[in-house]
Amino acid sequence: MNFLEERIQKDGIVKEGNVLKVDSFLNHQMDIDLFKQMGEEWKRRFADAPINKILTIEASGIGIACVVSEYFHAPVVFAKKSKSINIEGDMYITEVESFTHKCKNQVIVSKKFLNPEDHVLIIDDFLANGCALQGLISIVQQSGATLEGIGIAIEKGFQSGGRVIRNLGYHLESLAIVDAMDAQTGKITFREQ
Ligand code: 5GP
Repeated sequence: MNFLEERIQKDGIVKEGNVLKVDSFLNHQMDIDLFKQMGEEWKRRFADAPINKILTIEASGIGIACVVSEYFHAPVVFAKKSKSINIEGDMYITEVESFTHKCKNQVIVSKKFLNPEDHVLIIDDFLANGCALQGLISIVQQSGATLEGIGIAIEKGFQSGGRVIRNLGYHLESLAIVDAMDAQTGKITFREQ
């Protein structure tokens, strides 16, 4: 087991409805030493990519992306969730359905911060059905930037997002892939990587 899998095993809580709670170290209270290890690992896995920008989505991706940016020396842009209809032409806009909150959000990034010269690494905490990620990929495509790769902390391998994204040919690196989890026993099974 790698460092993140060990931590999930120790502190992760399996909830009903296919939800893994990791709020004691990843997305509410945040363990920055753990984030640094994650940054180091993604830097190793994306060593050859000319990444000059990190893209994530609010809220829980931001903390991770900020620590990771230290390893790539690249600024972080986060997509903002916006309820209002934005008709101004200065934003890339996409729509994302939230897995945890079961609602649709319009997600926006200012055109000032992403352009065709950029080489982007997308970072997020979870990959489940892939809606959040598809939204971020759409924003990169609208901007004309190059998507160099995607770093996910925890992929839920029993949901479809990871398979779809890999089939599309993107370089996806998930640090922990959960293949099964049981809310009754609390047992979590990781994919061998
Ligand atoms: P997707 O769009 O891939 O279906 O879901 C991704 C987003 O939903 C993540 O950014 C994350 O915020 C949230 N999410 C999905 N599954 C889980 C989960 O099991 N636990 C937690 N804490 N968040 C999740």
